[in-house]
Amino acid sequence: MYGARVADGGSDGRPVGVVSGDPRHTRAVRQLRQAYEALPPDAPIRLAKRTSNLFRFPRARERGQRGSGGARETQRGLDVSGLDQVLAVDPAARTAEVQGMATYETIVDATLAHGLMPLVVPQLKTITLGGAVAGLGIESSSFRNGLPHESVRELEVLTGDGRVVVATPSNEHAGLFHAFPNSYGTLGYSLRLVIDLEPVKPFVRLRHLRFATAEQCLDVMAQICTEGRHEGEPVDFVDGTVFSPDEQYITVGSFVNEAPAVSDYTGMGIYYQSIRQRAEDWLSIRDYLWRWDTDWFWCSQAFGVQRSAVRRLWPRRYRRSDVYRRIVAFDRRHQLTARLARARGRRPDEAVVQDVEIPIEATAKFLDVFHRDVGISPIWLCPLRLRSAQPWPLYPLEPDELYVNLGFWSSVPLSAGQADDHHNRLVEDEVHALGGHKSLYSTVHYAEDEFWQRYNGAAYHTVKAVYDPNRRLPDLYDKVRG
Ligand SMILES: Cc1cc2nc3c(=O)[nH]c(=O)nc-3n(C[C@H](O)[C@H](O)[C@H](O)COP(=O)(O)OP(=O)(O)OC[C@H]3O[C@@H](n4cnc5c(N)ncnc54)[C@H](O)[C@@H]3O)c2cc1C
Repeated sequence: MYGARVADGGSDGRPVGVVSGDPRHTRAVRQLRQAYEALPPDAPIRLAKRTSNLFRFPRARERGQRGSGGARETQRGLDVSGLDQVLAVDPAARTAEVQGMATYETIVDATLAHGLMPLVVPQLKTITLGGAVAGLGIESSSFRNGLPHESVRELEVLTGDGRVVVATPSNEHAGLFHAFPNSYGTLGYSLRLVIDLEPVKPFVRLRHLRFATAEQCLDVMAQICTEGRHEGEPVDFVDGTVFSPDEQYITVGSFVNEAPAVSDYTGMGIYYQSIRQRAEDWLSIRDYLWRWDTDWFWCSQAFGVQRSAVRRLWPRRYRRSDVYRRIVAFDRRHQLTARLARARGRRPDEAVVQDVEIPIEATAKFLDVFHRDVGISPIWLCPLRLRSAQPWPLYPLEPDELYVNLGFWSSVPLSAGQADDHHNRLVEDEVHALGGHKSLYSTVHYAEDEFWQRYNGAAYHTVKAVYDPNRRLPDLYDKVRG
């Protein structure tokens, strides 16, 4: 493992540096800082990145300017292409030192080679470690391991004011460390992180449990998550899929050393359909981690990829979430579907793409309202409990509370008289009424005051004033609002 060392800092306000001992990283950080310093002092800073999993596309006023973190890269963006590697894996300490723009696909390849994985691996291959920590992530190990930022030991950040600092839970930059999750690149960019890893076994045995009501499903989910077992067997992974009010499944996964037969859903088979078709299944650990990526959960349906004639012709290497997302981004950018709807005399549908966290005891109530007033299905369920004893300031989930993340990604027809954001607002209001929180990767419709009440404006502005006093980076509300 390469150690970080603190470089001498200037007292004249010039950047103070902390660099990793890895020469590749030192070089990449030097180049990044030169790029930062070459920008005019009043120019806003944006991240130039090849991939994204955001679902906020540039607002009309930003189109043509090239937006950050969206589908297109920015003219004045910082080139971070040299910051996408795993620098080291330490099997004895069970840690990895990873650059901020490394994708989970790269990280999983590097760690599985040592029989290890990150504590939480978000399902989409091109989600980066930096993106999952600044923007939150979740997966089926979250009921026991919390969220990805909770297994970060050390965070090296290029701050808005151009310093490179190493933040840990207890050093002089602890305020930045704790405020970084859910800051979405508005306090600084993570360049290098040290994360915890855990051991894996070669296979995951899956059991898909069917329930006729949400109440039964959530009762059993709470019990499994609390006990960490199902029918006497240890459970390592838990998630769920709701197909309709009377058909929902919990999928429990357990690490095993042997499998009688192993499925492959990167070919003609489709993972989410298998949930309804079989009660038991086995996947290699790698295929388990990426089970949702091949068909972007179920969203590949919109491109015809689930029809066997199209699937056969669609090259296997393009059955990936980032390929589908690029198609959606192209459509949004050029407003193709919306224009087609208008040409047919119809109002464009409202995109409802959100992940929300609801306390488990209120989740059946949320599903009731959602089925009645929004009507999207399937819905992904993923239980989570914070790993930390303290809440994280910008996404204040309660420690010890079991939440369920509900993911829904589709569009809904609007009736006459309904506002363009009718269903999104409805979801936001219901989430708030039930004591939940909404992820900020998609557009937010809250008014500014309401937003800062829900996302701890006081804590955010305190840290923002220290690390980005000249506001070179966007403000969080301005970045996420509709
Ligand atoms: C349909 C859909 C489903 C999703 N489902 C899941 C899910 O099931 N599980 C899950 O974990 N997540 C899910 N996500 C959310 C995803 O994890 C977040 O959007 C995450 O922030 C994306 O990370 P990225 O690396 O692709 O970053 P980007 O999309 O490129 O950027 C995300 C934001 O983070 C900032 N950012 C990126 N890198 C850094 C960095 N190094 N330092 C500081 N800020 C940075 C960017 O400025 C931007 O604001 C989903 C998203 C979508 C659209």
